Amino acid sequence: MELPRGQLLRADTFTSDETLSCDVVVIGTGAGGASAGVQLAEAGLSVVFLEEGRKWEPHELSNKQSWAVRNIYAERGTSVGIGNIFIPMPRGKAVGGTTLINSGICFRTPAAVLSKWRENYGVPWADEAGLASTFEEIEHAVGAVRTDEGVWRRHNELFRNGCEALKLEGHSAIVRNAPGCIGCGLCQVGCPVGGKGSVDRNLIPRALAAGAAVFSCARASRLLVENGVAIGVEAFGCDPVTEVVSRRLEVRAKKVFLCAGAISTPIFLLRQKLANSNGRVGKNLHVHTALGVVAKFDEVVDGWHGAVQGYYVRLPGENAVLETFSASPDIYSVQYEQYSKPMNQLRHLAACGVMLGDTAEGRVEPGAHEPRSKISYDTNAEDVRVIKKGIRQIAAIYFAAGATEVHTGFSRAGAQKNLAELDTLLAEDRPWDQMNIYASHPMSTCAMGSDKAWAVVKPDGEAYDVKNLIIADASVFPTSLGVNPQISVMTVATAIARAQLKRG
Ligand SMILES: Cc1cc2nc3c(=O)[nH]c(=O)nc-3n(C[C@H](O)[C@H](O)[C@H](O)COP(=O)(O)OP(=O)(O)OC[C@H]3O[C@@H](n4cnc5c(N)ncnc54)[C@H](O)[C@@H]3O)c2cc1C
Repeated sequence: MELPRGQLLRADTFTSDETLSCDVVVIGTGAGGASAGVQLAEAGLSVVFLEEGRKWEPHELSNKQSWAVRNIYAERGTSVGIGNIFIPMPRGKAVGGTTLINSGICFRTPAAVLSKWRENYGVPWADEAGLASTFEEIEHAVGAVRTDEGVWRRHNELFRNGCEALKLEGHSAIVRNAPGCIGCGLCQVGCPVGGKGSVDRNLIPRALAAGAAVFSCARASRLLVENGVAIGVEAFGCDPVTEVVSRRLEVRAKKVFLCAGAISTPIFLLRQKLANSNGRVGKNLHVHTALGVVAKFDEVVDGWHGAVQGYYVRLPGENAVLETFSASPDIYSVQYEQYSKPMNQLRHLAACGVMLGDTAEGRVEPGAHEPRSKISYDTNAEDVRVIKKGIRQIAAIYFAAGATEVHTGFSRAGAQKNLAELDTLLAEDRPWDQMNIYASHPMSTCAMGSDKAWAVVKPDGEAYDVKNLIIADASVFPTSLGVNPQISVMTVATAIARAQLKRG
């Protein structure tokens, strides 16, 4: 087939097998794939994107979580890390990847993290000053702006009030790539008004305008390798809901960018036993361990109204942040069941999560069949210490804002009416798996670095073991970040694409 330049086609509607050639084929259109692909396309290369999910317009999305997990979440929203705790690890499956369903929070990679990557892992370009213009460019491209007070609504205001009452330093409305936010509280089921700058709305259209082709509903199944060199990808049309596989699509390319995210990228390689001579693919899984605390107020809060994650404060002395969040009543009633009878109690809740850069490590392996995952993850005492410190700080903030009680997310622990009661609970030696931990930022499963005994890819993204196979997504971070990762993913992928362009 001729390269359909500038077009987005659904591969699950093809009626014949197809073969085509291009300069670069990019697997995945999420934060990493879109950022890398747009650089390559705008430099004049012919680029083909393969994306397992579908392209969605805002009006086609539904505000129901049950619809979202079936249609725009990978593995129907059920991927989970199992170990000494149980951690849901959701991710997106759509043109735009996880950015379609994220909260839009934008943080730059912390300077201390970049220094560690440079000094301990040999990534020479990981430098705050050197990357400053790239961060700025990315933030501009995705529309990052500080959340306007007009869309905070009450749940964010209460958190701000508590931070002010305690005279905390460094609290602020969060910068999000949601310039058109109307505060409807639906970010995580896809923005229904197109107010969020997920990459399907900015970087992918730019790549199309530069002549790239996007095949949606196309699952990349196999890397084509000849004599240790990547020469293309075998993909199949794939219905995004039923996962029924249809026609074969072979894309021959001079370089393959693998940007399927930190769960799917290692699975793709491990299924074929590729790029893994040091046994590191899928290991070194890091996440931002998170736990939500809810607070009950006498006043009606209706926490599901307003910017989902609009306000934050750093946790002093730790690589962690406290970020407000909201969820729909059905989610609150499952997580904090004591408030679901009677249900109108849910109207009085505000919520904030502690989220930390973990020191524990997990592992990703292929699940029973394509594309299922098997994720193992054990937390450790150090990370639990930080979670408990965060819980206490959130509770202090909410009590200062007038909350009558807090609920920590510990199963069956009930609510605490003051900090003394909370301290008693936190001092108890409860099993860690009684905590309702959550982690939506998997990272580091194909880490980059200068030591080929440890790293999977070089600092320029190329796999040590497979020439012309480049990885440019959250899996290349050597370590956890401690802040929400999308801007870091986009910046790292941009840096890798530029390094590859320089190499020619
Ligand atoms: C609910 C939720 C909220 C979040 N909120 C924030 C936030 O507010 N701020 C923030 O910074 N981060 C947030 N994140 C995380 C952030 O969105 C991700 O870290 C980031 O998108 C990861 O980028 P990526 O390119 O590595 O992967 P992704 O963005 O997940 O993209 C990977 C893409 O590859 C596709 N793919 C996978 N396998 C194949 C295959 N075999 N063939 C073809 N295509 C394939 C997938 O369908 C997907 O589209 C959130 C995550 C979740 C789940």
